Amino acid sequence: MKEIVPAPPSIIQNQFESVKELFARNVVPTYGRFDLAFVRGSGSYLYDVSGRRFLDLGGGIAVCTLGHANAEITQALVEQSQKLVHTSNLYYNEPQGRLAQAIVQKIAPGKVFFCNSGAEANEGLYKLARKFGHDEGRFEILTAVNSFHGRTLAGISATGQEKVKKGFEPMVQGFRHVPYNDLQAMRDAISPATVAILIEGIQGEGGVTPATPEYLLGLRRLCDDKKLLLMMDAVQCGHFRSGRFQSFQRIMEGVPGGESFLPDAISMAKSLGGGFPMGAFWARAPYADLLGPGTHGTTFGGTPLGCAVALKIMEVIQRDRLEENVRSVGDYLKAELGRLAKQYPKVLKTVRGLGLMLGFELAQNIPGFAGKEKPASIQFVNKLHEAGMLAIPAGNAVVRLLPALNLKQSEAEEGIRILEKVVAALAA
Ligand SMILES: *Cc1c(COP(=O)(O)O)cnc(C)c1O
Repeated sequence: MKEIVPAPPSIIQNQFESVKELFARNVVPTYGRFDLAFVRGSGSYLYDVSGRRFLDLGGGIAVCTLGHANAEITQALVEQSQKLVHTSNLYYNEPQGRLAQAIVQKIAPGKVFFCNSGAEANEGLYKLARKFGHDEGRFEILTAVNSFHGRTLAGISATGQEKVKKGFEPMVQGFRHVPYNDLQAMRDAISPATVAILIEGIQGEGGVTPATPEYLLGLRRLCDDKKLLLMMDAVQCGHFRSGRFQSFQRIMEGVPGGESFLPDAISMAKSLGGGFPMGAFWARAPYADLLGPGTHGTTFGGTPLGCAVALKIMEVIQRDRLEENVRSVGDYLKAELGRLAKQYPKVLKTVRGLGLMLGFELAQNIPGFAGKEKPASIQFVNKLHEAGMLAIPAGNAVVRLLPALNLKQSEAEEGIRILEKVVAALAA
């Protein structure tokens, strides 16, 4: 895509500062933001207030499934909004039923509940687990160290990272964290109060770490033995990002006994609505009927508008064979990142991930970053911004790529060229 960007008119020069000023005065300062403000996008490119173009390999943190300003999403939004936007969950609407069916068909028999975000989808899982164990007095949910499950009070209680809890104690009761990919640790942690295990198929915020097939199969056996629900947070790693609808489907490929692996419940959000705020959870039969009328709900969940958009996204992914694209472009990116890590070991340490959920860990003590306050991941992403590309930090030492699922091979090649330039300059 060779687009000529006209020089910005001089009046725009100060536009970023004036946006920043609006935030400083009026927006609660919960985020450490980068000094960038975007005004429009097209596919995997974003344009900032000065007209500068960026290759977006962050995808709005795994949200922009089909890229920016996708014409088919726009059309679905326009068409549905001209018919019906919202009615409430006091009534039925066909798009919600059809989207639930599409999700069930991609996983296994069960049912779907719709909400508005990842944290809210996980809240549904906590309530499902509590209901499941209630009559036996069981309520405790085991989660993983370095997990991330959202910013609500139960979300930060479930999250296995101290930094999200600090200042908000006491936590919601009934969550404990055990090391990830460590079956024995999970086995040892089970108490008479334990009712469920919740893990990410690929840890995202924790640094892009996929679960091993042995771990997942072991957890399944453990949950069957101890009558626990096995719940998976697929908010980031789900929705085709791994190259299959669910990351566990990809992780289990070719593993003996793996194709029949199934958790009891799965939360989703991010890529589901492609930028339209949506969340959902799927629960396997018979647990899907545990939450009966009056036990759970949300005003905006599963509106005709949101569901029409999500259905369109699933249709396009299928029609354009984007699972194959995720695999081929993802494999290319991973191989090239591996090459860079080999070539520049003083800058890149390791590469992890599946499909278009990739992370690279930065080496310790990169000379160019020494003596600066900000973590290496933030400094590295700033360098990428200077070079015209967006990526997402994960913790202090990992940088993630979570681009649109329709990222083109040529765009991936451009991303590698930019990365190589930044990495080579840091290695020099
Ligand atoms: C982003 C994320 C969440 C929280 O989703 P929100 O939509 O921000 O509430 C939960 N779990 C995982 C794994 C995530 O990546």
